[in-house]
This record gives sequence, C-alpha cells and structure tokens, in this order.
Amino acid sequence: MKLSHTYLTQPHQLYKECKPTSVANPGLLGYNSQLGQELDISESWARSSTGLEFFAGNSMLEDYTSVATVYAGFQFGQYNPQLGDGRALLLGETQDSEGQVQELQLKGAGPTPYSRGGDGRSALGPVIREYLVSEAMHALGVPTTRALMALRTGDTVVRDRLQPGGILVRVAPSHIRFGSFQFAAARQDEEALKALLDLTFTRHYPHIEAAFKTPQDLLGLVIERTALLVAQWMSLGFIHGVMNTDNMSIGGLTLDYGPCAFQDDFSWQRVFSSIDTGGRYRYAQQPNIALWNLARLAEALLPIWPGKEDQKIVEAEALLHTFAPTFEAHRSALFAAKLGLDNSQSGYQNTIEPVLNFLEEHSLDFTLSFALIEASSKCDMKRLNLIRAALPEHAKLEKFWSTGSYEQGHWQKDVINPLIIPRNHQIEAAITSSEQGNDSKASTLFALYTSTPLVETLTAEDIRGPEPKEWLERTFCGT
Ligand code: AMP
Ligand code: MG
Repeated sequence: MKLSHTYLTQPHQLYKECKPTSVANPGLLGYNSQLGQELDISESWARSSTGLEFFAGNSMLEDYTSVATVYAGFQFGQYNPQLGDGRALLLGETQDSEGQVQELQLKGAGPTPYSRGGDGRSALGPVIREYLVSEAMHALGVPTTRALMALRTGDTVVRDRLQPGGILVRVAPSHIRFGSFQFAAARQDEEALKALLDLTFTRHYPHIEAAFKTPQDLLGLVIERTALLVAQWMSLGFIHGVMNTDNMSIGGLTLDYGPCAFQDDFSWQRVFSSIDTGGRYRYAQQPNIALWNLARLAEALLPIWPGKEDQKIVEAEALLHTFAPTFEAHRSALFAAKLGLDNSQSGYQNTIEPVLNFLEEHSLDFTLSFALIEASSKCDMKRLNLIRAALPEHAKLEKFWSTGSYEQGHWQKDVINPLIIPRNHQIEAAITSSEQGNDSKASTLFALYTSTPLVETLTAEDIRGPEPKEWLERTFCGT
C-alpha cells in the first residue's frame, strides 16, 4: 500500500521515526468495508494475509517509514511535559474519495521512543471498544476519528490479567492534539508551533483563506468545533471519560476512546472511568473541562500570537468567552430538537433541564426516554411499541410528558432520537466472546451500530439498557 509521509517534512523535534514490532499471528477481527472503499483500499487485499501482515506491522519494508509523534498534556489537571505516541504509530496518509487527506495510524503496534516504559501494545478489549464506539459515533453524526480495522495479534499482553493483544487501524485527517501545541510552547519552539498551525489548517480547516490562518483564528475555530462536539456528546448522553488535553483533537473530533460510555440510566454526575476518582470528567462537567482545555490551548498559542503580551491575553480571553454562549446555543438547539420544542421559545434551563432531572430522579434510560417522547408525540406506533417493550417504566415518563406544559409539535420530519447507541453491556459481552475466540457478537454489534436498521427488524434486546443486576457502572480503564 502506497502512503505519503508529510511528517517527514515537519520539524524533526515533532516526531521520531520508528517501525512497528512484529506480532506472532495476525488475525482479522473486524474490517470496515465502507471506510475501506472511501479510502480506495482493496478489500480483498486488506483481508488477505499480505494485508493483515501489513496492518499488523509485520511486513514493514526496509525503505518504509512510520513515525511516532510527540505531545505533552494536562492529565487530570497535572502537566506532563512529555507524552507522545507511546502505543501508536503513524503509517502515513492517503486521500479519501472527497479528496480529504486521511492519516492511517496503528494503535498497539509496539514500543516507540515515547512509550515511557510501557509495552506499546493494546489489549484486545480496548481495541474492540474503540472499533465499535468510534464507528457508532460516526453513524450518529458526531465528528470522530474512524476505525478501519481491528486485528488480533496472536500475542498476549500483561495488564491486570493476561489478555490477548490487538491492534486498531485508526483513521483521521490528523491526530494533532491540544497537547501537541503544548509540547512546542513549553520549549518556546516557534518553528514547531508554526508547523503545527499550518498542518492543522491544511488538514482540518482547509477552506480558510490564507490571511485568516493566524493563531487567533485557529483558537476561534477550535472553540467553535469543540463547543459543538461537546454539545453533541451531551445530547447523546456520552461521557468521554479522559478529557486530558492530550486527548483533545485540534480538529474537534472525538479522540482517544478509553473508559468512555453512553449513559444508560441518566445521572448528571455519572463517571465511568475507574481512575477518575474525583469525578473530574463526569457528564455534567464536560463543557467546563472543554473550556479549561481550550484555555490551555490558548496559552500554548501565545508564543506565535502577534502583538504585545497584554494585548494577546485580552484577545485570547475574549475568544474564550465565546465558548459558553456557543456551547449553550448548540446544546439548546440539539435538546429542543430532541423534544420537538421550538428552540426560540424554549429555554434550556426552564424546559430541558427539568426533563433531565426527571430522568435522573426515576433512573430512566437516557436514550430510550427521548426516543419514547418522540415516538409517542408522533404516534409512531411501531417504534413506540418497541420502546415500551424495552423500557419497563415507560408509563411514568409518558404521564410526565403528557401532563407537562410543553409546547410541542415542532418535530422535524426525520427521526431525531436514536434507538441504538453502543451500550456498555453489549460491548463487554462482545469483548468477552472475542477473548474466547468468537467474534460473531462484535460483528453483529458493528452491523447494528453502523447501519440504520428498520424498526421491524429490531428487538427489545437490541435497544435495551442492561438489567439492574448487570449494570456496569465503571468501564475499566483497560489500556
Ligand atoms: P491515554 O490517556 O490512554 O490516551 O494515554 C496517555 C499516554 O500514555 C499516551 O501518551 C499514550 O501513548 C501512553 N500509553 C498508554 N498506554 C501505553 C502502552 N501500553 N505503552 C506505551 N505507552 C502507552
Ligand atoms: Mg491519549
């Protein structure tokens, strides 16, 4: 496979050349045919032993280069000056069918100069979770890195227990993080900052005119994209789990799926990560953390921001002040649409928060509750019956909604509220099966999450939250 290597023309302090370490016995766990087609990759080649050897990193040609990139980051509020691709390797880039450059990255391909004592490997569980959740995210219309392929390595990795190893082939216009800028800024490295700025505009904001490719413009654009991204997460009940600045994409993509999850029964304070003991990255906190991270990005841009020191800070702060209203506007619009309300009439605090409070008070499933309100308002009986079968407490919610003084009837024609989200208990079951060598559950879930199945073909089981006894309150960090 022929790939280009933009990084080799970047300032050398931003990356190190590094080859994957081969694995014992590559095997295909999942292949994303649609994305493969968009990238013009031959499916028969990708599925062949030659393709598998390539994506497992076993057949790196002598003259073939892959790179690990460097970044820093605030992890749970603590600055770490040196992180980087410790278990990821950038193979290079290709173009998709729309002419957009897409990087291909292997996650779990062996140690790199940035592994900091880690093994550079990934267990199969996190590979399956990212493969399924990132593609579900894309299908739900949320900006995200993509997943082309999930492989098993045939090797074992040592985590809390011995686990089978895996590799994810990840795809994105770039994998540049807020932390990439922080790494360069901490060294007052203007050359590296400017190179990152240029690459970011080329990959993520290609339509911006040359005169507007300044650090100020970039901050404004990243604020807009991040505000929309987090509003979309909130509107789907999604919790990223580790919003460290090194996991924040400069292009406003959902990046680095670790202990993430979609909520089942709703709680404002829900936390999924077992390492997030303080609840820093809980559901309700995500917009505040996004803004905090954007402020760290603003600081990292100051060395190349034109003007006097005081003036720069005033300008950066003015931009950061646009985050809250932009986020609020997106969140109100998204939730108003979810409830069929007129966004110009309904205020988020007065009309939408009370609905979420009701869900929390009665431990109702986030996704199914919104789907129920929509289906019952639209008298969509097929959908309504399916949801009722999957949501035992449906009568309570229907009563609440019908007796509330909601000015309804502003429904968009298309269905807004998804029935299907990647549920943690389903993913855990697929991981357990795949660890025992049976990938059929993972394949079924991939098809369920990435297609729009007709309501008639769905069962209550496909859309149901877990039974209370099976509730998974924590996703084990598992990295
Ligand atoms: P995360 O919070 O999972 O995105 O990872 C934080 C940092 O740790 C990143 O720089 C990763 O590349 C690195 N890292 C995570 N797991 C490993 C591993 N198994 N080996 C080497 N580095 C790792
Ligand atoms: Mg990360």
